[in-house]
Amino acid sequence: MVAVALLSPSVRGWIDTALNLAFPWPESVEAPPKPVVPPFCERCGYPYEHVPDRPFVCSTCVDREWHFSHARAAFLTEGQPLEAIARFKYAQEFFRLGQLTDWLAGAFDQHMASERWDGLVPVPLFHRHLRARGFNQARELAAGLGRARGLPLRDCLKRVRETPSQVGLERHARWKNMQNAFRLKGRFDVTGQNLLLIDDVFTTGATTNACAQVLERAGAARLAVLTVSRS
Ligand SMILES: [Zn+2]
Repeated sequence: MVAVALLSPSVRGWIDTALNLAFPWPESVEAPPKPVVPPFCERCGYPYEHVPDRPFVCSTCVDREWHFSHARAAFLTEGQPLEAIARFKYAQEFFRLGQLTDWLAGAFDQHMASERWDGLVPVPLFHRHLRARGFNQARELAAGLGRARGLPLRDCLKRVRETPSQVGLERHARWKNMQNAFRLKGRFDVTGQNLLLIDDVFTTGATTNACAQVLERAGAARLAVLTVSRS
């Protein structure tokens, strides 16, 4: 892992720029975590106000071919969770991992613990990005949750295509961008397994859905998604 103290001035400058872009309003960084609480969409887990007091699927999900049964997150991607995730990923503040894992474990207990899971599958990074960052935040989170809840880590996916930045792409382009970006690593057999995909943030779901599609085609029985936060 790369210590911040060893980073060159240009890399430090890039991190500062990234954090400034992520947190244009300093006071918003201090905002306490906002839990994702019902009512939310049964499929994508997006919280809605003013909906009937019964299970529902949102209009986005009606049109979507999800390859996972449901996605859940601990918090909205803002305030303290956003700060913790960004500083963990971009500023190598590894002490954040304990808090992030605790948040993820809380969401697991609340939304996923009633089912049997055969393993936790982290969303992979492209190898060049992995080398540049030094670690995959999703793998660290999945390993931490696995230790906390006695579930095996199944680091069974690889990203075989570098997907250009999603920023600025229309939704349709984001989804096309992700097609065929992932593969199952050869030594893994996921046939009949119930697998929980783990990532730090759920935004459009394009990334986790592409991962779920690979696992579904490989014969996984049940797939769901758990993230620290969601937009
Ligand atoms: Zn939905």
